[in-house]
Formats: sequence, C-alpha cells, structure tokens
Amino acid sequence: MSLVDQYNREIKYLRLSVTDRCDLRCFYCMPKGFKGYEEPTDWLSFDEIERVVASFTRLGVTSVRLTGGEPLVRKDLPLLAKQLAALPGLDDLSLSTNATRLAKHAKELRDSGISRINVSLDTVDPVKFNNITKGKLDKVIDGLLKAKAVGLDPIKINMVIMKGINDDDVEQMVNFCLENEFTLRFIETMPIGDTGRDAADYYIDLHKVEARLAKKYELIPAVMAGAGPARYVQVAGTALKIGFITPISQHFCDTCNRVRLSATGTLYMCLGDEHKYELRPLLRKGISDDDLDNVIRDAINLKPFKHEFNEKPEKVIRFMSMTGG
Ligand code: SAM
Ligand code: SF4
Repeated sequence: MSLVDQYNREIKYLRLSVTDRCDLRCFYCMPKGFKGYEEPTDWLSFDEIERVVASFTRLGVTSVRLTGGEPLVRKDLPLLAKQLAALPGLDDLSLSTNATRLAKHAKELRDSGISRINVSLDTVDPVKFNNITKGKLDKVIDGLLKAKAVGLDPIKINMVIMKGINDDDVEQMVNFCLENEFTLRFIETMPIGDTGRDAADYYIDLHKVEARLAKKYELIPAVMAGAGPARYVQVAGTALKIGFITPISQHFCDTCNRVRLSATGTLYMCLGDEHKYELRPLLRKGISDDDLDNVIRDAINLKPFKHEFNEKPEKVIRFMSMTGG
C-alpha cells in the first residue's frame, strides 16, 4: 500500500503535533503573551493518535516525528512514544524539541523507541538566547548533554538564522557542534502566522551564509540519512555535517514526502497552505479502520504542488506552533 498525491509524490512521513503549548516564546514562532491555546479535551488522546498513525503506516508511512508546540510539555509523552514504536511498519520515530525538559526525559524517551532528536537552538549566547526565546540556555544545554549521554543519535541542532539577531553566531555554533559531535542545520525564516511574517524582516538567504563559511572551512558535499529537505555539506577533516533548509531561497516542494497532524486532529497537507482535513470528529464518531484509511487517502489529494511563501506571504494565518514544525 502506498499513499501517493496527485503530483505523484509518495507520502512516507508524518509530523505529529502532540500539543500546541510551549514553555518558550521564540518570537518568530509564537506571539508574546499568547493564550489562545486549544482545549486539552480537543487534543487527540494517545489511543486516537495511535489509530491515526496505524492508518498512516498501513498506507505506507514509515517515519513519524513527534513535535508541537513543545512535545515534552505533554504529560507522559514517553508512553505515547512506546505505543507508536510498537506499530508494525513504523521504522523511524523521532522527536523535535526545545530541550528545556530533555535532561529529565532523555533516557525514558530513548527506552520508549525514540532514536534521534532535533533540537532548536539559535545561539549559545545566554543573553541572546533569552532575547529570542524568553528562556534559559543552561536548561537546553543540560538537555542536550543528557541526550548525548544516553545515546540518542544523531542529535541535530536546528538554528533559524536571522540578520542582526544571530547571524554573527554561526561560527560559534559550528564550534559548539564540532565539540559536541552534533549535526548543525540552518533554517530560513518562514512567513507562518503574524510572528513568522514579522521575522521575515530578518530573513537571510542561506546561500550567503554558506559562502561565508566556505571562506573559513573547506565544505564538501555530504549525505545524511533521514535528511528530508536539508542539503548537506561536511566540514573537511571533521565529522561535522551542516544542513541548509532553504524553503524561501530554493524550495524543495517537488520532493516533499510529508503531511502534518495537529494536536487536535487536523491534517495539514503543507506547512505553507491552509488546506486541511478534520479527523477528530470522525474518530469520535467511531469511524472504522477501512474508512479512516480511505479518508486519509482522499485528504492527500488536497496537497498543493508547492507552498507560496514568496508569492503570498500573507497566506498562512496559523502559527508554526499550532501546526507542528
Ligand atoms: N518546540 C520544538 C522545537 O522548537 O524544536 C518543536 C516545534 S517548533 C515549531 C519546530 C521548528 O520550527 C523549530 O526548529 C523552530 O525553529 C521552527 N520554526 C518556528 N517558527 C518558524 C518560522 N517562522 N520560520 C522558520 N522556522 C520556524
Ligand atoms: Fe516553542 Fe519550538 Fe515555537 Fe520556540 S520554536 S516557541 S520552542 S514551539
């Protein structure tokens, strides 16, 4: 069985938001003082999530990433990871996190079947970190070191690069990742929600960042398992791989293999589009497994050919934290 959209792209990857809440406030993601969260009674339960993921795996999806908001804010997340990891056909279960709570949960998560993690970290300067996120850097560093100690591998650092905010920190982040054997990925700001559109003022084309790094390091083309949309280089003579995620300067929609499920059961076909399908009402009305598979198959036909971040930056009104980045 496979899930193929109308542009012949095979969907193999589900990004699963387990909550829209977060204990940080990265200014490009969530508005300051935001309180308009979804009601927990509307969140899919772990059993409902398991049903949806089981349907996706029956349809050929092999990778699931838990995300949010901040997924570790959701109580008992390792229990959900264990439930999902046991599903036949699911080869790859990963997590995106801000790492503030990772020191406490890293071992349990690894034992539950999460093998690899992505951690948001835009700077290792504590003052800048607080300016960007309103949080404390030391918690994140503790979380990262614990994740490494328990053997989560690879650990990828996601750095959104913003002109005048943290573009000067690139070399420091390279050194941090070299020292700790993390993979580093740079991301361009995306106009998702009002917060993302405001952050577009700080947008930098990552090709410029790459050109700057190439003056200092010898960068050779590299491949990375589970790379998704990132294009990788390796710093010659080291194990450090650096990925560039360039949704704005060079989109990668023609190879997009993913869809996203919000915490409340809305299936979004594209990060840059409001096309969606509500699964929660169907689940709560007792839809059969066969019908659920058919509904998901139909929904995939809504997947647009490409995002329109450049042509229509006003298009996506929900915040990144609501969809699951
Ligand atoms: N809280 C977790 C974290 O920060 O890793 C998971 C969810 S977060 C929404 C996922 C990713 O989205 C993070 O790497 C974050 O930097 C990125 N992100 C959020 N808003 C963005 C924006 N407007 N443009 C680009 N990336 C954004
Ligand atoms: Fe929270 Fe992640 Fe959004 Fe930052 S990027 S506010 S950590 S959900």
